[in-house]
Amino acid sequence: MCCSNFENREQIPGEKPESFDITAVKGMRFFDPHVHMTSRTTDDYQAMADAGVVGLIEPAFWLGQPRTGIDSFRDYYSSLVGWERFRSSQFGIKHYCTIGLNSREANNESLAEQVMEILPLFAYKEGVVGIGEIGFDDQTAAEEKYYRLQLELAREAGLPVQVHTPHRDKKNGTRRSMDIAIEHGIDPYKVIIDHNNEETVKEVLDRGFWAAFTIYPFTKMGNERMVEIARQYGPERIMVNSAADWGISDPLAVPKTAALMKIRGISDKDIQLITYGNAVTAFAQSGQLDETDFAAVRNVDQSVKFEGNSILRGGQQPRIDKSSIIIS
Ligand SMILES: [Zn+2]
Repeated sequence: MCCSNFENREQIPGEKPESFDITAVKGMRFFDPHVHMTSRTTDDYQAMADAGVVGLIEPAFWLGQPRTGIDSFRDYYSSLVGWERFRSSQFGIKHYCTIGLNSREANNESLAEQVMEILPLFAYKEGVVGIGEIGFDDQTAAEEKYYRLQLELAREAGLPVQVHTPHRDKKNGTRRSMDIAIEHGIDPYKVIIDHNNEETVKEVLDRGFWAAFTIYPFTKMGNERMVEIARQYGPERIMVNSAADWGISDPLAVPKTAALMKIRGISDKDIQLITYGNAVTAFAQSGQLDETDFAAVRNVDQSVKFEGNSILRGGQQPRIDKSSIIIS
C-alpha cells in the first residue's frame, strides 16, 4: 500500500546528485519478496528480469477499493496461483504468493467470515509460501480477530507469516503484531515483519523476527536510508522489497537498492543476503520454495499457453530484440 509523505531531500549547493547506475550490480540475482504483480504491466516484468530479478512473492492484498463479495476473493486467489504465476514465468521469473485476508477488509466481518472459509483451500496449494499479508491497518478489534485466526491457519499449515505493519502508530502496531504471534506459539523465525523503519527495526531483530523493508519512492523509507540501516545492523534477518502495486511504486526497488549499497561500499556478500538470500531462506521454510525453481523457469517460451490463453495478443510474435525502438 502506498503513502504520499514526500520527503524532499535538500540539495547541498555544489553537490552533484549521485547518478544511479544499475550496472554496478550486473550479474547479481535478486528476489523481491513483496510485489503485487497483478497491478503491473508486462514491461515491468521485462525490466525486472533484465535487472536480475529471478523470483518474487506476490502477497494477497486489497484492490484499492473494497471487494463486495466472496467470489472476487476466490477469483483473486485463483489468479495468484494460476494466471499471474504463468504470466511471470513467461519472463523467466519464478512467481510465488502468500494467501491471506488483508487487514483493511478484515473490517467487513460478514465477508471476512466467508473468506476464512475458503483460505484453507488456497493455503495448501503449490507455490504458496506463507500466509500474508496480514496484520493491522487501523488496529481495530476486527483486524485483531482475523489476524489471530490466520496465525492459527499458518501454524496448522506450517507456513511462514508475512505481516503488514500499519502506517499510523507503526511502533505500537508492530509490537502488538509480534506479541500476538508469540501468544499463538508461532516461532519468530517463521514471521516476516514488513514495512519496517528505523523506529521498529531494533526490536524486531532483537526478538528474533525477520525484518523486511519496503523501499517506496518519494516517501519516508527511501533506499539511502536503507543503506544506513544495512550499515548499522548488518545483513542478518534483513530483507528489502518493492511492495510495488497500483500506486506510485518502483518494481526495480530491490536491484536499485542493491546498486546503491554497492556504490556506497556495502560488501557483495551482505548485499546478496539483503536482496536475495535472506528472503529465500525465510520463505523456504514453507517447503514450497527452492532455488532450483529459479533456473527451471529461465527457459522462456512466450508462445506457451495457460488454459488456452497466452500473453501474446492475436498473431504477436514472442519478443526478441528488446532494445529496438521499432514497434512492429
Ligand atoms: Zn503489499
